Amino acid sequence: MIRSVAVVGASLAGLAAARALRDQGFDGRVTLVGDEPHRPYDRPPLSKDFLLGRASAEELALGTEADDALDLDWRLGSPATALLPHERRVRLADGGEVSADSVVLATGARARNLPGFAGRGGVHTLRTLEDARALREELRPGARVVVVGAGFIGSEVASTAKAAGAEVTVVEALPVPLAGPLGPTMGTACAALHADHGVRLICGVPVRELLGQPRVTAVRLADGQELPATAVVVGVGAEPNVGWLAGSGVTVDDGVRTDAAYATNLPGVVAVGDCAASYRASTGRYVRTEHWTDALEAPRTAVRTLLGGGAGPAAGDDGRRRAAVPYFWSEQYGVRIQFAGHRGAEDEVRVEAGDPADRSFLAVYEREGRATAVLGVNRPKEFTRWRRALATTGSDSGPASGSGSGEQAAAVL
Ligand code: FAD
Repeated sequence: MIRSVAVVGASLAGLAAARALRDQGFDGRVTLVGDEPHRPYDRPPLSKDFLLGRASAEELALGTEADDALDLDWRLGSPATALLPHERRVRLADGGEVSADSVVLATGARARNLPGFAGRGGVHTLRTLEDARALREELRPGARVVVVGAGFIGSEVASTAKAAGAEVTVVEALPVPLAGPLGPTMGTACAALHADHGVRLICGVPVRELLGQPRVTAVRLADGQELPATAVVVGVGAEPNVGWLAGSGVTVDDGVRTDAAYATNLPGVVAVGDCAASYRASTGRYVRTEHWTDALEAPRTAVRTLLGGGAGPAAGDDGRRRAAVPYFWSEQYGVRIQFAGHRGAEDEVRVEAGDPADRSFLAVYEREGRATAVLGVNRPKEFTRWRRALATTGSDSGPASGSGSGEQAAAVL
């Protein structure tokens, strides 16, 4: 009998877990523990509209009026420092404790930095509202911004900095940006957006050091080039917030390990969102995604697991069973990039519609004749149909021709 649940991490996945608990009929105590002082807010705009000054902090709020009725016990502004599963308690940094029969781990991830970069004026990472506020101050006409890392967040920051009037250079240590998530061909196609918009992209050269004290004045690359900088943004990925779980007995690898229904190795403890590495039957591996939609959707299944409603993916809004297909989007230079599925390193990729040269195309990844993933660049309707097909159990090979309009497809996502 579960009478109390502690949700550790009060952001997207944590709030979604609290909502799911109430939706699924749990009427006991729900405590949300968060180290940030804020109620849950949305992170994607931090590199886009909020960074550009087109959205306010109030507009980022994830909570709605309906959430006020959830009767949640908020413990904000102090991180959890220990999970004591045998005592059914979570210990907080402020000396407090939360007792709970079950625990949802939703502590997300934090921005990685480079050795020796932290603490110097003008050097930024981007994960929190405070990070975005500080970076926003730097983005103005005449600023010289160097972005280290041409991943999605680095590329979005480059796009926003350019829109704010800065001169922008992106430095990527790998020869091809985004080759990890998209493969080299499509990584190259998406990275071409930088040059289209007057942003210089330097690939295959790592950063050696920063120059200037106490504020950065330039970035020196491994090949000796010096790039003058009024601001540097480090976009080299994120790491899961799992250090506080040391000694708890929960299995942690790259993130908290869970089965496909988000159960950890500890009874009564589930993990969701960016902090969780969950088993995916389609790949036979544990996968940690850093995708907004996964953080929003996984808690429904995780809470069903906690409350004993059976494992397996939750039914979609249209009542059909849906496989958990990872999905993310990015917006750069006014272009919407969308990706869904599990791309394998050996998968073939073909352009299904449009043309990469026009920055408007749909590409499908395939293995042994079956679609594994889909990439859409400014092709939302076709992308939506393909994503739905990937997500519907048993129809991995793409949508049947004439399978409905984009609007109909959007309704099930
Ligand atoms: P988080 O949002 O990281 O929240 C975890 C919370 O737990 C945080 O408040 C953290 O401070 C807190 N916490 C950590 N440790 C503790 C502790 N010990 N005790 C208590 N609380 C703790 N995804 C997309 O699909 N598309 C996008 O365009 C996109 N853009 C993004 C842009 C930016 C700048 C960033 C940072 C992310 C973006 N993402 C995007 C990713 C998306 O925002 C994340 O996948 C999502 O926020 C994950 O939610 P979460 O709740 O799992 O983790």
